[in-house]
Parts: sequence; C-alpha cells; structure tokens
Amino acid sequence: MPDLDRMEAIVSLAKQRGFIFPSAEIYGGFRSTYDYGPLGALMLRNVREAWWNFMVQQRPNVVGIEAAILSSPKIWEASGHLAGFTDPLVDCRKCGSRWREDQIEGVCPSCGSTDLTEARDFNLMFRTFVGPVADDASVAYLRPETAQGMFVNFPLVQRALRLKPPFGIAQLGKSFRNEITPGNFVFRTREFDQMEMEFFTPPELADRYFQYWTTERYEWYRTLGIPADELRLRPHDPDELSHYSKGTVDIEYRFPWGFGELEGIANRGTYDLNAHATHSGTDMTYFDPQTNERYLPNVIEPAGGVTRAMMAFLLSAFDRDEVGGEERTVLRLSPFLAPYTVAVLPLSRKPELQGAADAVFASLASAFSCDFDVTQSIGRRYRRQDEIGTPFCVTVDFDTLDDKAVTVRDRDTTEQVRIPMTEVTRYLQERLDSTARPVATPFG
Ligand code: ATP
Repeated sequence: MPDLDRMEAIVSLAKQRGFIFPSAEIYGGFRSTYDYGPLGALMLRNVREAWWNFMVQQRPNVVGIEAAILSSPKIWEASGHLAGFTDPLVDCRKCGSRWREDQIEGVCPSCGSTDLTEARDFNLMFRTFVGPVADDASVAYLRPETAQGMFVNFPLVQRALRLKPPFGIAQLGKSFRNEITPGNFVFRTREFDQMEMEFFTPPELADRYFQYWTTERYEWYRTLGIPADELRLRPHDPDELSHYSKGTVDIEYRFPWGFGELEGIANRGTYDLNAHATHSGTDMTYFDPQTNERYLPNVIEPAGGVTRAMMAFLLSAFDRDEVGGEERTVLRLSPFLAPYTVAVLPLSRKPELQGAADAVFASLASAFSCDFDVTQSIGRRYRRQDEIGTPFCVTVDFDTLDDKAVTVRDRDTTEQVRIPMTEVTRYLQERLDSTARPVATPFG
C-alpha cells in the first residue's frame, strides 16, 4: 500500500476505533492537539511500560524519577533554553501564514510566495505565571523536555541511593513546546510525552557508552516490531551538532513523508552539570571514595518521544491480507504493545453461555488486558479484534458447557486451538514468554 494511503488509513482507524481523536472535536478541534481514547490510552501505557521495563527495571544501575513540570525558571536560564531554545520564525507577507525558516527553503508552502519576512527567534517554551499576580517575578515555564529534572536532581539522587557512576536516571512524562508548525498527526504536537534517560559515566567510558546506548535503543524499536528497512541511524554532521553535544546519532523512522527522528542519542559531555553548578553555586561533582577523586561525570542521553514512537509502531503494524477469501485489516502489533492482549468472545448472546464467558473473562482479566465482546457475528468480531491488533481471541461456545474447553485464535495465523478453560492463562503466558521482548544487553 502506498505510504500516504497507509497514513490516511491509520489516522482514520485511530479515530474510528478509539486510539487517537482530534481534541475538542465538538468545538471544531484545537490546533493539532489530540486526545488518546480508550485504546490509545492502553497502548500509550504499553509503550511507556516497555520503555521503563527495558531502561529501568532490567538494570541495577538505572533509577527512575518523576520531576515537576512547573519548576524554577532558573533551570531554563542555566540550561540555555531561555536564551537559545528558539526556532527561526518567518511570516509570509502575501498570505500571512507562519513558518519555520529552516523547513521551507524560502518559499511559502501555503501560497508559493517568496515574499517572506526576515527570520526572528521564537522561543518555544510556554510561559505562565505562578500565583495570583501576573508579573515578571512570577513567570514560570512548562518544561520543554524532561531531561533537566535529571540534571538538577543528580546530587540528591546519587546520595539518596548511594549510586556510583556509571549510572542512569530516567523519566517518562509530558513536555510542552510551542511549535510553530505542529503537524503530521501526532509526529509533532505542542504537548507530547517523552522518554528520556541521563546516563552519568566516568569520562573515559563515555564513548563506549554512547555506542552502547545507541545499539540498545535501536534494538528496542526493532524488537517491538519496527522492521530494519524502516529504521536508520543518522549521525549528526559536526556543523549540525547542538552547542552542548560532543556527538549525536538520531534513530530515524521511515514515516510516510520521509525519514524523521524517533529518538536522539547524544553525548552531552559535562555541559549540563557544569551549567547547573555555575548557575546554582552547588557542587555537582561526584566524589569517588575509592580513588579519592572528584569529577563531573559525562552524560549520555537517549531522548525519545512516546507519542511519536506509538505512531511509528502503528504505521509499521498496519497490514491488509486475505482470510477465507475476504480482505481484512490487521494491526500486527507486538503483543506487548497491543491495547488488548486477549478478547473473550461468547459465540452467542444466549444466556446459557454467559456464566462460562464471565468466568473466562474473570480468570484472564487480572493478568492480561482483556476485551469482552458479544455483539454481531463471530467473524465480524474476529475482524474487529484483528483491526485493533489483539493477538488472541478466546471463544466460548456451546461445547464449552460440556467439555469445559474454549477455542483460542491467533491473530496472525488465524489458527485455532482448543484448550481447557483452566489452562488458558498458562497457555497465553507461555505464548507471551516465547515472544521476543526487549532485553537489556550487559555492557562490555
Ligand atoms: P525537532 O528537531 O524535530 O524539533 P528535537 O531534535 O528538538 O526535535 P529533542 O529535543 O531531541 O527533539 O526531543 C527528543 C524526542 O522527543 C524527539 O526525538 C521526539 O521523539 C520527541 N519530540 C520532540 N518534540 C516533539 C513534538 N513537538 N511532538 C512530539 N514529539 C516530540
């Protein structure tokens, strides 16, 4: 299927099936903002959980935090965001539309005019006021990245958990940027979810950890279902590097309009700890009691977007094939990302089946994300589950009442197996255990 058709199909499926809605649609929407519906909320949780499990839970030397979204503006002064987190904004004099100069090559994408204003720096941070008085002293900013939460808390986290570099501090959460041109569905929005980790390492290990995290992060996307030909690693050219970066590699995904960034892995050196030490007057060094040395760790940062990753997983999973002479749409999502792991489908609405169906649902729902559907024909219900990526369907039929067994259907092969009701949880668990999931590679 052509890429742009796939994009259209995903945007439509996302809306029809309750993944992602245009926000405030009853009021005509609101400037490229989106709400995540029931299935989208489930899938977002799964993407976050897949990241947290791989980045934090599986690693003895990575811990997680949840820092404030609204905090001291001094953070953004020290980090350089107040002065430099800007995009070059140009106005089209003919049609009045606004663009990022670095994205349009001197021609207005809306009307084709080349009569554009000079670019001026536009700060992307959302400004607000804390407390009842709206004056200069009460200005604060919504965080434009989660990373600074890890830098400013470095000394407290290190001491509280008695951590010794190399170690990482990770965080999942909302960030806000007043993007000039949001768009391409949830690829670029003004409010989005990030997954970031700051890895503090002795300077001599920085290069190796930069390689290590690049590979780890690339494999995470691969294992969760993005094919190799839709992913690439793109090292930044020296003139493209941010002022703080000693090296950056982007993990890019082949979006329908071309390759775009999913995640950046940067070697930030000592830039951030140094900046906060200077601005706050706090000692941000680490004292190594074994060597009696004091130093500023180097930082390797893998910084990705949860919502952007979710969009990539949906695009890659989208497929159409034929089953029994009928075309079907199927989302071949990793079972670890699919909104529902299993759907319980009583063959008919007849009351005889209800007790058994309820019992099966109850036995599965505490362990798995579980849907329950009794409407329409069983064939239609299978199609509906295929379309939202549910890897397993469990059908309760009239034989169940005698043989105490159910049919488990596989989304991808559509094969069905008959299994005793009491064995379904174990069967599904075994199927999940034999499915590839991201596993941390030891460093070395
Ligand atoms: P760009 O150059 O595209 O504006 P960036 O390089 O500034 O993005 P980072 O600051 O490195 O992005 O942010 C890390 C990750 O956060 C990105 O790789 C992306 O996945 C996600 N992200 C950044 N901005 C947005 C946004 N406006 N909407 C959705 N996700 C975003």
